[in-house]
Amino acid sequence: MSKFWSPIVSTLKPYVAGEQPRMQNLVKLNTNENPYGPSPKAVAAIQAEAGDGLRLYPDPLSLKLRQAIAGLHGVDASEVFVGNGSDEVLAHAFQALLKHDKPLVYPDITYSFYPVYCLLYGIAAQTIPLDDKFEIRLEDYQRDCGAIILPNPNAPTGIGLPLSGIEALVAANPGKPVVIDEAYIDFGGETAIPLTRKYDNLLVIHTLSKSRSMAGLRVGFAIGQRHLIEALERVKDSFNSYPIDRLAEAGATAAIEDVAWFDETRHKVMESRDRVTGALRQRGFEVLPSLANFIFARHPGHSGASLAAGLRAVSVLVRHFDKPRISDFLRISIGTREECDRLIEAIDVVI
Ligand code: PMP
Repeated sequence: MSKFWSPIVSTLKPYVAGEQPRMQNLVKLNTNENPYGPSPKAVAAIQAEAGDGLRLYPDPLSLKLRQAIAGLHGVDASEVFVGNGSDEVLAHAFQALLKHDKPLVYPDITYSFYPVYCLLYGIAAQTIPLDDKFEIRLEDYQRDCGAIILPNPNAPTGIGLPLSGIEALVAANPGKPVVIDEAYIDFGGETAIPLTRKYDNLLVIHTLSKSRSMAGLRVGFAIGQRHLIEALERVKDSFNSYPIDRLAEAGATAAIEDVAWFDETRHKVMESRDRVTGALRQRGFEVLPSLANFIFARHPGHSGASLAAGLRAVSVLVRHFDKPRISDFLRISIGTREECDRLIEAIDVVI
């Protein structure tokens, strides 16, 4: 605490990301990275750009990338916004679309950046408890509020929402922004992007960090009707009128265009997820039904903290949250087949 700090900084508890240790032989399953790496075409595009091109400022409109995303999702490039990771896109959405007099509603157990942004930008927040199966009950979101944000699938539970339920919520809340954070949607969920044609209050946010395995590049995007995208652009232009750098635009465009790599790698992740889920259930774990590239699991005989520490001792890193209701769970990212095998062997040592 310093006398120079603003009142917001004094109360702010910044988001703490999962650790990124550099240990040899570590099976790193703690930050939901994709083990298969980006499309080789994306890597080649970054390498090609990483020369004299860097003299030049990036395209302030990121037009090539927005056109590629628009083409993939059947919208117009003017309905696409890109930023440095979906975290930045979310930050702009919070600043641009959320009101200060009426609360933003989101689940009590969800992505921990939402409360950070609410504090930072002075947005009132109201959290709705997950039900006893750790599911989001969409009926609970029909209330007097300024806006709604829901991740689909939710994090860290991995549980998905049906598109019909999302559509009903969006339709029942005209005039209120409904933001769907689809960071993990490509691992088996159904995207709400097509609904943006029909509903002027729906903004859908995606990332290239997970299903396109480019967490290090920091690229995310939002799709919505033009007036919502224009709001994000106004914030962006006041903040940093170059949304992403030249390497990121080149790599992300090639990654979006390489649908074959995207499909092959995400399906491998989904297969491993189902295999790990089965193996953990056989060993007595309760595993929540996941549509993400991670699973959320607990064992009746062991605390989450002791399991995480035991796994760490044998060089397997998973995420444990010391938070009410979920402190007995582990969030385990899905690695390669070999990494998943090592996880299961390590579990057998620890339980
Ligand atoms: N939304 C959710 C639900 C997430 O879990 C994450 C990843 N931590 C993000 C958004 C942000 O991802 P990125 O900034 O890498 O695009």
